[in-house]
Amino acid sequence: MDDCIFCKIVGGAIPAEKVYEDGQTLAFLDIRPTNPGHTLVIPKAHYRNVFDIPLDVWGAVMQTVHRLAPAIITATGAGGLNINTNNDEAANQLVFHSHVHLIPRFTGDGHQPWGGTPYAPGEAATLAEKIKNAQD
Ligand code: AMP
Ligand code: ZN
Repeated sequence: MDDCIFCKIVGGAIPAEKVYEDGQTLAFLDIRPTNPGHTLVIPKAHYRNVFDIPLDVWGAVMQTVHRLAPAIITATGAGGLNINTNNDEAANQLVFHSHVHLIPRFTGDGHQPWGGTPYAPGEAATLAEKIKNAQD
């Protein structure tokens, strides 16, 4: 896709610190890391996000994620790793070429991506049922 920054990285039109590449996927360092070693894994082909990406391509991306997760821990000395994807605007997706964030984490690093409010009584069961029924 012509105006896609990650397609430009795949095509070599703009530089990136690449850490892994195979036929279907590419991984490179995020230019604005949450912590040093923050890595993005992308399919080389352009898909907007998880809602568009075919299952076999998603599988290839997950293989690369699985390969890199321990390498990032070893290389950074991190105590843990967040694996995250943002899908569509409401979920803070900024680059509309599907990607997975691998974020090395350190105890007490102050980043707090999760956390929330407990469900009201019965609310979780109702929602779980809705999600079960919405699956193809
Ligand atoms: P998001 O779409 O919110 O999941 O995140 C997009 C991520 O892409 C952000 O963390 C950016 O820092 C990162 N990013 C944007 N442009 C580049 C680039 N040229 N090279 C590496 N990372 C980038
Ligand atoms: Zn793209």
